[in-house]
Amino acid sequence: MTAQDCLFCKIVAGDIPSTIVYEDEKIIAIKDIQPVAPVHLLIMPRKHIISLNEVDEKDINLLGHIQLIAASLARENNIAANGYRLLCNNGAGGGQEVLHLHYHLLGGRNLEWPPG
Ligand code: AMP
Ligand code: ZN
Repeated sequence: MTAQDCLFCKIVAGDIPSTIVYEDEKIIAIKDIQPVAPVHLLIMPRKHIISLNEVDEKDINLLGHIQLIAASLARENNIAANGYRLLCNNGAGGGQEVLHLHYHLLGGRNLEWPPG
């Protein structure tokens, strides 16, 4: 899939509507359209990266930034104290459906382990 056909690139570009809860020059965070928890956000780079299989050392700042913003969004959404999950599905076997790197921030209920 090229960036041109990518759903999340279209969301980043504003060509497909979404509820943006955070944005800066590197990343955006949106509400998941089919939430599986009371808080379910997707945090993604603006640039098209398919998955963690495609990152390298030049992306370390970007990946660290995503985690700091995830922690800040958890606080803003009042899920930090009880606990939350930040996860990244990679590849078909990892449950990845949209081939543009993104992290799910889930909280607002007690999450089970192990995931399905
Ligand atoms: P994954 O399976 O990790 O690739 O997750 C893809 C996520 O994107 C799923 O949780 C979907 O509900 C979500 N999703 C798909 N289309 C949209 C959309 N247009 N806006 C917001 N979230 C979406
Ligand atoms: Zn993309």
